[in-house]
Amino acid sequence: MSRREPYLASRLQGFGTTIFAEMSALAVETGSINLGQGFPDTDGPHEVLDAAVDAIRNGKNQYPPGPGIPELRDAIARHQQHWYSLEYDADTEVLVTAGATEAIAASLLSLCELGDEVVTFEPYYDSYAACIAMAGAQRRVVQLQPPDYSFDVDALAAAFSPRTRLVLLNSPHNPTGKVFSRAELEAVARLCVEHDVLAVTDEVYEHLVFDGEHVPLATLPGMRERTVTISSGGKTFSCTGWKVGWVCARPDLVSAVRTAKQFLTYVNAGPFQHGIAAGLDLPDSTFRSLAAELREKRDRLSRGLADAGLIVFASHGTYFVTTDIRSLGEHDGLAFCRSLPERCGVVAVPNVVFYDDRSAGLPLVRFAFCKRLDVIDEAVARLKALRT
Ligand code: PMP
Ligand code: GLN
Repeated sequence: MSRREPYLASRLQGFGTTIFAEMSALAVETGSINLGQGFPDTDGPHEVLDAAVDAIRNGKNQYPPGPGIPELRDAIARHQQHWYSLEYDADTEVLVTAGATEAIAASLLSLCELGDEVVTFEPYYDSYAACIAMAGAQRRVVQLQPPDYSFDVDALAAAFSPRTRLVLLNSPHNPTGKVFSRAELEAVARLCVEHDVLAVTDEVYEHLVFDGEHVPLATLPGMRERTVTISSGGKTFSCTGWKVGWVCARPDLVSAVRTAKQFLTYVNAGPFQHGIAAGLDLPDSTFRSLAAELREKRDRLSRGLADAGLIVFASHGTYFVTTDIRSLGEHDGLAFCRSLPERCGVVAVPNVVFYDDRSAGLPLVRFAFCKRLDVIDEAVARLKALRT
């Protein structure tokens, strides 16, 4: 028998267990309040849950069609039209995926040649680096700088090269809570057009915006035809375990992404697709009240973290707020997060894992506020121990 070690292929070396798995396991092990991995502790709208239950009870339990059930593709197309005036043909320009995670993976695997470059911003969601690597591409990273997580447009321009294939953009942004402004997106769009490259946008927090507005990159001039827009129902409807995501793009891009997607999962989440279809058609007021509830949680946790002595960077969207621990006389966010359960009975996530430039990310720690107010209050009370 021939044996070659290590078993992990070189392109995946360095990608260990995700920080979310590590920190959620630590929370369970220590009985801590989990403000690490971003998942809500309450259910979303009952219409969404009821539609999935009905689907399960009414025989919708076999493979859904490869591109997703027509009811969901129609609802996604209506959603893009209603919220952003973007027209997509539900049959040729919409693809349902196993969460945004698969949409990102399938986009990178299908659109990148070996050696192509992908421009993205750091801190970046952890799956980006892994999927770029699995696609055999290289990442070129532009840093978002606290306190407002703005970026240097010249640095962005300098990240483009003749090998750039696409820009991978996440707004609203995890882990910072940044919502890219129209002017910032225009700078990204200008460079995409100038260099004739594609954009892949991760908009999973599109409805969780507290200040400002979410502007899909695809709405900017020249971008509709070169953008693969990705989103998911998990965050909006508080059902992160369902993994119903989607891609909207022009037909040849969707067809490319589908080619990879069909060999990853083929299909998933049949009955849950019915649930998300019902959710996307809910009235605007439901979406607004989901965001308003979360805004109150953001305010409550942000205040509490400041009271505990942390520097808090304003979060304008998502489930997350980032802090700097140097005000507590500490500098290593990873060590801080590993010791936090013992010190305070709370779990958070070290932002360093989202950085190539580890020194920039080292003192930063992310807390999730998608939890009940009483849970946030209890976490804040526990975190006051940090001051003593
Ligand atoms: N992108 C970002 C920025 C995220 O925070 C998440 C978190 N789940 C995902 C993608 C993955 O979404 P899904 O659960 O739909 O796969
Ligand atoms: N998106 C979630 C977060 O950022 C986690 C998802 C995951 O566990 N991969 O916390």
